Amino acid sequence: MKFKLLSIFPNILDSYLNDSIIKRALNKNIISLEKFDLRDWTNDRHRSVDDTPYGGGAGMLMKIEPLYQALKDINKKSKAKPKKRKIILLSASGKTWNQKIAKQYSQLEEIVFVCGRYEGVDARIKKFIDEEISIGDYVLTGGELPAMIMIDSITRLLPGVLGNSASIEEESHSQANVLEYPQYTRPAVFEVEGKKYRVPKILLEGHHAKIKEWREKKQQIKK
Ligand code: SAM
Repeated sequence: MKFKLLSIFPNILDSYLNDSIIKRALNKNIISLEKFDLRDWTNDRHRSVDDTPYGGGAGMLMKIEPLYQALKDINKKSKAKPKKRKIILLSASGKTWNQKIAKQYSQLEEIVFVCGRYEGVDARIKKFIDEEISIGDYVLTGGELPAMIMIDSITRLLPGVLGNSASIEEESHSQANVLEYPQYTRPAVFEVEGKKYRVPKILLEGHHAKIKEWREKKQQIKK
């Protein structure tokens, strides 16, 4: 899976990418991330990517020309089949990201993330992208964190990334509206401030069929 990040802060995600499971997926070449600095597609002295909105209003908007030129170049160099590739604009007003879409996207070969900043992006960008995605009903300062959330949730679904693929199947949201059962690790009794917090007895007895039944009962349904 090739991820491509178009941003005015292309290095902002580096520390997250350089640790843990994502780093392992990068090292194993299961994923790659190519970063593009939008300012490389500007041609004025100040490398400006924003301007004031027509009709007035607060803040600045990202200009269409550098975005268009950048996408044109990124598209030209892509080797992915058109059906196996998506250009995503991160947007607070887009379709809400969820595990079902993450699974669909994990089948793609390439995803290009267009990260907005300021008050957003000139609306003509919609003609040059495939989808607008929001990661939830709140507003962030930029599209880079939402892109990282998409990258993370897709990456852990790719074969060879997690040690145990069963953990994906049993996780929250792997079936519609079903959340994971409660899980515990040692100690069996956690004693603190005069109280004892015990692991449910059934999990200590090693009876796999009963544990399975208990877990199924304890799986929560999302309201
Ligand atoms: N004025 C915009 C609005 O009301 O929807 C918000 C712009 S926000 C400050 C700047 C950029 O952050 C957006 O263009 C988008 O790329 C990103 N962003 C903010 N919240 C987001 C969310 N919930 N999901 C995805 N991207 C988001």
